[in-house]
Amino acid sequence: MTDSPRFAALIGWPAAHSLSSLLHGYWLKEHGISGAYVQLSVPPQDFGKCVSALRRLRFAGANVTVPHKQQAFSLAETLDDDARASRVVNVFVFERDRILGLNTDAHGFGVNLVECLGAAHVRSGPAAVIGAGGAARAVVLALSKLGVPEIRLANRTRARADKLARELQLASLRLLDWDDWRGLFTHASLAVNATTVGMLGGPSLKIPLENLPLEAAVADVVYNPLETQLLESARARGHRIVDGLGMLMHQGVPCFAAWFGVEPKVTPALRAALEGALRG
Ligand code: NDP
Repeated sequence: MTDSPRFAALIGWPAAHSLSSLLHGYWLKEHGISGAYVQLSVPPQDFGKCVSALRRLRFAGANVTVPHKQQAFSLAETLDDDARASRVVNVFVFERDRILGLNTDAHGFGVNLVECLGAAHVRSGPAAVIGAGGAARAVVLALSKLGVPEIRLANRTRARADKLARELQLASLRLLDWDDWRGLFTHASLAVNATTVGMLGGPSLKIPLENLPLEAAVADVVYNPLETQLLESARARGHRIVDGLGMLMHQGVPCFAAWFGVEPKVTPALRAALEGALRG
């Protein structure tokens, strides 16, 4: 469909674990677009050089993941609203004379949450967010934009939660201590793990869910494994669960549109392809 091939990349350290190349490769094929999406494992000290090289090679842009999101925020010359509000950039769009920095994680989390639970449920009560890193900022921003009346947040390192609250400046955000599970979950209609805990090969998030009402839904940003131990425990208690794969697919839509000029669709067939890859 496009005249000359177009290229985009994922820059991480490491980058190999990501499903992004499968996601964008699926859409490239579906839309008959000539181009490629490559995953680059780049150490932090080489991040700036890598970005310059991609621009010289006329890449359309890149996804940026752990541990480069902070550097990406500093390098971006123009920010979209969500990147400015969250102070996190997960996407570069390389224009001729400037680097655009976008945050598509907030969009991805919000769209998927509404698709899975419905907007009325999401707005029906307080939400509890665990974590204060880049993903947590996107989650908090998305919940705020969806009109969640109260967003409670706890992070292992309190100083990082304090910084998040200072920078996001949201009237609906309330910080709690890391072990105040009762305060976090009482009367909540949603709980979200936005930490790295639960990823394949790592420790599991062992938090008591006793105070979480059974009507509350439980979401996880981690998508590998698809059903984290937290989601397993939540399902066993009867909660509705939302895994991280939906967020991943939906955050990719605006990236793909910006780089390749076509707005792709999130379909059951795409999800099945990604699930298949996760199962190995
Ligand atoms: P960051 O490094 O920015 O933040 C990590 C967070 O995890 C911090 O809150 C940190 O707490 C917490 N944490 C780490 N280890 C522990 C532990 N042992 N106990 C308690 N808390 C811990 O990472 P990101 O926010 O960028 O990424 C978080 C997760 O979100 C990753 O798994 C990533 O893959 C996923 N993600 C998924 C997306 C999707 O589309 N599904 C999109 C973006 C991210 P502390 O401050 O105390 O260190």
